[in-house]
Amino acid sequence: MRWILLGPPGSGKGTQAARLAEKYQAAHLSTGDMLRAEVAAGTPLGRTAAVYMERGNLVPDGFILEMLRERLQELDNGGDFILDGFPRTEAQAEELDRTLSAMGLEIERAVLVDVSDEEIWKRLSRRAHIEGRLDDADAVIARRLEVYRRHAAPLIAFYERQGVLTRLNGERDIETVFADLERLCAA
Ligand code: AMP
Repeated sequence: MRWILLGPPGSGKGTQAARLAEKYQAAHLSTGDMLRAEVAAGTPLGRTAAVYMERGNLVPDGFILEMLRERLQELDNGGDFILDGFPRTEAQAEELDRTLSAMGLEIERAVLVDVSDEEIWKRLSRRAHIEGRLDDADAVIARRLEVYRRHAAPLIAFYERQGVLTRLNGERDIETVFADLERLCAA
């Protein structure tokens, strides 16, 4: 299984990716989680990335791509993975294709977990209170959504052209969305 989960911040794609990875024994590759680990460990990459993350901006491609390539090359499960939070732009998607094709691999499916801005606002404000996530403060939520919307259409079109895109309504409960994902896996 070589899948990508696409969707706005707060769409639930991280939760779904983790569940899919567990059920199908695939690696869950979340660039957001990788970056937060670098920040927590106080590495040079973490210190640089934090400046972008705290403002809701994208961390420059050079850092992200190097980090991700390392993780892809380390995979010891036959190359099964679910990408979450990457790619975020068409340029990242093109770079991912190049990296994978050098490994003899390709993306099998890109699932868009679609959620409206209104619903995202509700969810992220709630999460900011519960988790105390720095980047979920109001101004940052607005910026993250703006950045997502700016890049989403070309990114989605990229996977549509490749014939691997599936759209799911992400405004349903976790179990219902997961059941759809399981059906897609079986298809
Ligand atoms: P996430 O947990 O996926 O919402 O990511 C949290 C933050 O990490 C984002 O707001 C970005 O600042 C950064 N980030 C995560 N993935 C990427 C990516 N693929 N490209 C650039 N920045 C990223």
